[in-house]
Amino acid sequence: MRILVIEDERDIAEFILRGLRTELFAVDWANTGEEGFQWAKVNDYDAAVFDVRLPGMSGIEVCRGLRERKKNMPIIMLSVMGDAMTKVEALNAGADDYLAKPFFMAELTARIRALLRRERQTVGAVLRAADLMLDPVSHAVQRGRRRINLNRKEFALLEYMMRHQGTPLTRGMILEHVWDMNADPFTNTVDVHIRFLRQKIDTGRAIKLIKTVHGYGYKLETSDHS
Ligand code: CA
Repeated sequence: MRILVIEDERDIAEFILRGLRTELFAVDWANTGEEGFQWAKVNDYDAAVFDVRLPGMSGIEVCRGLRERKKNMPIIMLSVMGDAMTKVEALNAGADDYLAKPFFMAELTARIRALLRRERQTVGAVLRAADLMLDPVSHAVQRGRRRINLNRKEFALLEYMMRHQGTPLTRGMILEHVWDMNADPFTNTVDVHIRFLRQKIDTGRAIKLIKTVHGYGYKLETSDHS
């Protein structure tokens, strides 16, 4: 899952980026509202965290502008404690949630995960596909009774595929949601990671969950038609 962070204060941005990356999110950091707005228009982010007070275009203006352009990813706004008017303004501009600074990183990630669940209409934190289980909070992955160890990218890739079960995903879509903007779109990095993931998830199993969609990309599917 890929997240856009717009925050002008470097210390706070680094705190947020470190926290989100620890939770295995791919993150892009914009330090102005204008830059973040441009990125959000061209990239398909899964969620966004905007500071309200930015020099130039404010977080509220970015939020309003994106909603006018029918960009509907979950947005959490950040502002200083006790600013009730800004909270109302942020929610009216189309933000889904609001968090006052200072906050605990665990609360921000918990709120992001709650919004991602609402988005995909999934119930509970744990994702399941047949006998495969992935817990985004504890980072545990299990198939049947066997625990599976994945590295950061494999985990993020599997989480994205499990959230879009049954949907064919192009390499471009996968790159966009699992890697940050520093990924090189001209390499076979997606295929390489799919291969590693298959070895850990599907090798030796009667039912293969990761399917190749020829001429298109990949999908994760529980029924074994292919
Ligand atoms: Ca600020």
